[in-house]
Amino acid sequence: MDANIRYTVIGLARSGIAAARKIQSLGGEVFISEYNPADAHPQWNVLQTEFAIEFGGHTQRALQCDCIIVSPGVPPNTPILREAASRGIEIISEIEFGYRIKSHASKIIAVTGSNGKSTTVSLIHHLLLQAGMRSVLGGNIGTAFTAHPIEEPGLDVIVLELSSFQLERVPSFRPDVAVLLNITPDHLNRYPDFDAYAQTKFNIFAHQKPTDVAIINGDDPVIKRFASNIPIATTAFSTESAAPCCYQDGVIRCGDRFFDASRATIRGKHNHANIMAALLAVQPFGIPQKILQKGLETFTPLPHRLEYVRTIDNVEFYNDSKATNTDSVKYALQAFNQPIRIILGGAGKGEDYRILNPLLKKYAKKIYLTGATAKEMETAFRGTAEIALIPNFAECIQTAWHEATPGDKVVLSPACTSYDAFANFEERGNRFKEIVQALA
Ligand code: ADP
Repeated sequence: MDANIRYTVIGLARSGIAAARKIQSLGGEVFISEYNPADAHPQWNVLQTEFAIEFGGHTQRALQCDCIIVSPGVPPNTPILREAASRGIEIISEIEFGYRIKSHASKIIAVTGSNGKSTTVSLIHHLLLQAGMRSVLGGNIGTAFTAHPIEEPGLDVIVLELSSFQLERVPSFRPDVAVLLNITPDHLNRYPDFDAYAQTKFNIFAHQKPTDVAIINGDDPVIKRFASNIPIATTAFSTESAAPCCYQDGVIRCGDRFFDASRATIRGKHNHANIMAALLAVQPFGIPQKILQKGLETFTPLPHRLEYVRTIDNVEFYNDSKATNTDSVKYALQAFNQPIRIILGGAGKGEDYRILNPLLKKYAKKIYLTGATAKEMETAFRGTAEIALIPNFAECIQTAWHEATPGDKVVLSPACTSYDAFANFEERGNRFKEIVQALA
C-alpha cells in the first residue's frame, strides 16, 4: 500500500472498520466519517480512541483525502460523495481497496448472484480446505475481505461473497475466478430499475483477462441477455440442458468427471446449481475427484436455508428465514414433493409478489401471512390458496401447527427481509426455531 495516500472511510460498517484498521496497520493515514450519531454505534467510544473519526454527519474534513472508501450501505447519491466526485477525489469500495493491497501470491474466487452466494462460497471454501489449501472466506459473509491478512503471501485462495452493492465502485477489481449464479428481482428499492441491478452484477467480470475463469448459470435468462458484456469466454453450468457442467438424474458431470449429487449434504435443484458452480470454481486448482466428492458429502449446510428444524406428531418444520426475495421462495415451494403450509411476510423490498402465484396455486396447502407486508401479500395472493393473516409471528406459527395434519410440512420462507420485527434473518430464524421447539 502507498502510505502517502490519505484515505477517508465513509460509513461505519464492518467492512469500513476493517479497511480503516488495515490502513493504519500498514502505516497509512485514515479518517472515518459516519452519518449516524455516535450512540447509534455500540463500539463508538472504543472506535474514537482507535481512529480519527466524526459521527452525526459528513463534514468538509471527510474531503481532506486522496481516496474515499465507501461502505456498501451508503446510497450512491449521498451529497458528500457527489461533492467528492466533483473535486476529483477517487471513490472506491472496500473490495477494490482490498484487491489493490492483496499479495500477488493469492488467487481470488469471487461469487455473486441474487441467491445461493453464501451456500456456494462456503462450499468452495470447504472443498479447498479439504484439499489442504490455505483458503479464507470473506466479503458479504462473516469476515470482511480486508480483515484477513491479504497483504501477506501466506494464502492460496481468498473466497469472496459479493453483493451487488459491493460490486459498485470496483474500477480494477479482477478475480481469478468469477461466478455469477443467477439474477432475479432483489434490492429494487436501491436501483433505478431491474436492468441497473442486473448490470451491476456483471462488474464481477469487467476486468478479467483471457487467462481468468468466468462461470455463469446457463439456465438464467437474464444472464443470457447480458452475457455479451462479459469480456472473456465463459463456462456454463446447467440443471436443464447439456453444458460443460450439468446435472441429470442425481449425477453431476463436470468435463470428464462425474459426481454423485445424491450423496451431497445439500439437496434440491437450486443446490445442484450451487454445487456445479462450486465444482467449476475450484477446477483450476486441480483437486482430485475423490477429495471433491468427499467434500460434497462432508459439507455442513448453512442454517436458515431450508433448514430442517424438527418433526412433531409427524409434522415437519423447516426454517428458510434467509429466503428474503421471491426467487428463493420459488425454490422452497418446489423443494418438497407435496404442497406445504408456507409462512410468508416481513419487510418488503419493492417486489411484485404476484410472481409467486402459479407456484402457490400448485404447492401451497395454505398460506400464513405475518409481518409488515401481510396485507399487501393477501391482496397479491388472493385466489391461489387458502390464506390466514396473523400479524403476530408466534401466533402465526402456532396456527399453522394447530391446523397441520400428520404428514404436513410447515415452512417459514418469508420472501422479505426481517427488519420489520427482527435485527436480521438469523434472529428471525432462531426465533422460529424456538417457537417450534416450544410447540412440542
Ligand atoms: P445468498 O447468500 O445469495 O443470500 P444463500 O445461500 O444464503 O444465498 O441462500 C439464500 C436463500 O436462497 C435460501 O432461502 C436458499 O434456500 C435459497 N437458495 C440457495 N441457492 C439458491 C439458488 N441457486 N437459486 C435460488 N435460490 C437459492
